[in-house]
Amino acid sequence: MNPVVFSFDVEEHYRIEAAVGHDCPAERQREYADRMEACTRWIAGALAGAKARATFFIVGQIAGTHPKLVRELAEAGHEIASHGWDHRRVHRFTPETFREDLRLSKDALEQASGREVIGYRAPTFSVMRETAWAIDVLAESGFQYDSSIFPVKHDRYGVPDAPRFPFMVRGQECSLLELPPVTWRKFGHNIPAAGGGYFRLFPPAIMRAAIRQTLRSPTGLPILYFHPWEFDPDQPKLPLGRLSRFRTYVGIGKSRKRLQKLLARYGSVPLAEAIKALPVDRGSLPVFELGEEEKTSRKDRQGDAKFA
Ligand SMILES: [Zn+2]
Repeated sequence: MNPVVFSFDVEEHYRIEAAVGHDCPAERQREYADRMEACTRWIAGALAGAKARATFFIVGQIAGTHPKLVRELAEAGHEIASHGWDHRRVHRFTPETFREDLRLSKDALEQASGREVIGYRAPTFSVMRETAWAIDVLAESGFQYDSSIFPVKHDRYGVPDAPRFPFMVRGQECSLLELPPVTWRKFGHNIPAAGGGYFRLFPPAIMRAAIRQTLRSPTGLPILYFHPWEFDPDQPKLPLGRLSRFRTYVGIGKSRKRLQKLLARYGSVPLAEAIKALPVDRGSLPVFELGEEEKTSRKDRQGDAKFA
């Protein structure tokens, strides 16, 4: 049976997509940076307590501001991977500026950690059909896997018809190993049970069902995702609209206990190790053409709002 993978997208609280466009004063930014560090250390402690190791997708700028934190995570056996240089969604780049973003983040994280960075997760899962060119740039930039395609229907991200288990994704010319977050196939839909509201709000049984279902397949690799700010119950709240406020802060008071329970139940290994243990070689994984025309219309995708 494959392992379960806990992954953490490390960014300061104010960088979340819902807060884009809100100005965060410099002093508040510093406070959030301190809180990010404290929460990441709490996560590292929770992982150590469960003898578990994880993948940390870290914003490249944090390697410059918190090099010691990055180094300590690497030395504790965790994988350091890229979450972009400054947390911009892929939609906001051209292939050339994206290449530069990847180079900056990969270099900074490698310098801070002393390890090679082979994995990438786009801010807000923004590798989608319209950004298929990103796969080519990632492959050309020396990344060995991507974990940014969420096979769900969501108002802000997702490729609903992408495979649910590890696959080879083709951009326009290149292919790359793609490792999607876990989903629960139910009622003819893929439910995004890997994190967000499915971690903090809904009964834990939903996430567990998704993990169980995924582990039944020889290539199923359940990947969960979390953020440091989800474990900061006393954080100063950002000035968000009502829906974003609910999505962002719901359930934060009980998330620490929930994470500890999940870790005790499943354990975790980093993605870089989990893919080595997959019982298939990459040549036998399914190939998915991301660069093809969108099969679902945009309007269709905007239909139902889910949790960030
Ligand atoms: Zn992020």
